[in-house]
Amino acid sequence: MVQATLDVPDLHIPRVVIIGGGFAGLELVRSLKSQEVQVVLLDRNNYHTFQPLLYQVATAGLEPDAIAFPIRKLFHNYENFYFRYSVVQEIDTQQKEVVTNLGKLKYDYLVVASGSRTNFFGNENIRYHSMPLKTVVQSLQLRSLLLQNFEKALQTKDLTKREAYMNFVIVGGGPTGVELAGALSELKNYVLPVDYPELDVRKMQVHLVDAGPRVLAALSEESSASAERYLKKLGVHLHFNTLVKDYDGTTAITIKDGEEGQLLGRNLIWSAGVEGNAPKGFDASKITERGNRILVNEFNQVEGVQNVFAVGDVACMKLEDFPNGHPMVAPVAIQQATLLAKNLKCLINGKSLKPFKYQNKGSMATVGKNKAVVEIGKTRFKGVSAWFIWMFVHILSLIGLRNKAIVFINWFWNYLNYDRSNRLIISRFSKEERKEKRDKGKAGVVI
Ligand SMILES: Cc1cc2nc3c(=O)[nH]c(=O)nc-3n(C[C@H](O)[C@H](O)[C@H](O)COP(=O)(O)OP(=O)(O)OC[C@H]3O[C@@H](n4cnc5c(N)ncnc54)[C@H](O)[C@@H]3O)c2cc1C
Repeated sequence: MVQATLDVPDLHIPRVVIIGGGFAGLELVRSLKSQEVQVVLLDRNNYHTFQPLLYQVATAGLEPDAIAFPIRKLFHNYENFYFRYSVVQEIDTQQKEVVTNLGKLKYDYLVVASGSRTNFFGNENIRYHSMPLKTVVQSLQLRSLLLQNFEKALQTKDLTKREAYMNFVIVGGGPTGVELAGALSELKNYVLPVDYPELDVRKMQVHLVDAGPRVLAALSEESSASAERYLKKLGVHLHFNTLVKDYDGTTAITIKDGEEGQLLGRNLIWSAGVEGNAPKGFDASKITERGNRILVNEFNQVEGVQNVFAVGDVACMKLEDFPNGHPMVAPVAIQQATLLAKNLKCLINGKSLKPFKYQNKGSMATVGKNKAVVEIGKTRFKGVSAWFIWMFVHILSLIGLRNKAIVFINWFWNYLNYDRSNRLIISRFSKEERKEKRDKGKAGVVI
């Protein structure tokens, strides 16, 4: 147990501690700026990650610092703001304390905005061998693995082994799976044949597997059909109503209509599910049975726990329209945080709180150059127009002018010649080393 105290000055005004500098955490800090509260933000990274573009880092389209932004730089002119680069280990709601690797910290109000993590549904083989895509580090690991495996493919004369090194299996046909499949196919069609002229890159296969009957289940059937058409045009092999039940690092075992099948590929990307990243310290009754999310009421309050709130992916607000909670997407996180900042002010001033109502502004996914689907209300776009909307919305949503400019220049360059210039193995990826780090993390060792 950590004994030290996290060194944060006591300003003798109410202290709001926020766990997580993701979409929700940052919005909360911004919205609390002018208020008479001290804001302390804790994050295990000293930067914010723009997760929707992680797949572009993984496929060598963008450099990591184009989609990450230093938290201190964002709030350097905020007077009542303190950031501590620390890992939250648990919370003690009786003592009103957060326990971190640097020490304990008292709060008056606590907001948990710790997001979500990859859900492997308890399958340790898949966890060990597959590649998740939730963090900048994971996107760089995937980029390294991809390039390392192509280097290995050159070094083997065994054709089955060579095929395995070059093949990709993506599990999960949501926006991440679809966007990755599109980007990998563009690499196959335009970049890898130039880098590896000794390999017959036409043999590389990209498989997209989904347990349901179509891709992009959250969008309309029409948009889903367009995305499917684009994917097929790029040469992606689609497997619907199919589950991946095991993976040994080379072969994925699938199940369709009760029958077992196999997919060969040493690159398996797991984008089949996430679960809430709830910190330890909550009573089991406050956590959803499926999905590990913190149950909150319509004010994002954890009921029965004084002055504790949860927002974004980690929060599950069960309403009539959303019996299983809201979708785990950035707009929900941002909207909940904006309202919570107002409600915290009301709470401090003894006023009544306003309930949360989600304004769904639309959904979108891109499959590659000139190919995307966008739904805004009842209006649907596809093809080139949708692709431009997708690019515009993503550039606008990025934090910082420099990042917007870098992404714009990269995409413009890529538009002209399909080039993806970040094909670097900066640090060699090893599954054994990753396991070692994960085990140390589980044992509470901070690395
Ligand atoms: C690959 C990918 C693509 C996506 N694409 C889209 C998209 O196109 N559109 C969309 O709307 N949504 C998309 N999402 C979902 C979206 O990113 C999330 O819904 C959103 O990030 C949730 O915001 P949040 O603030 O709740 O959590 P996050 O943004 O995940 O932030 C959580 C923060 O908490 C910190 N943290 C966690 N645990 C601890 C701890 N113990 N101690 C200290 N800090 C901690 C993390 O470092 C992180 O900074 C995508 C997600 C992924 C993974």
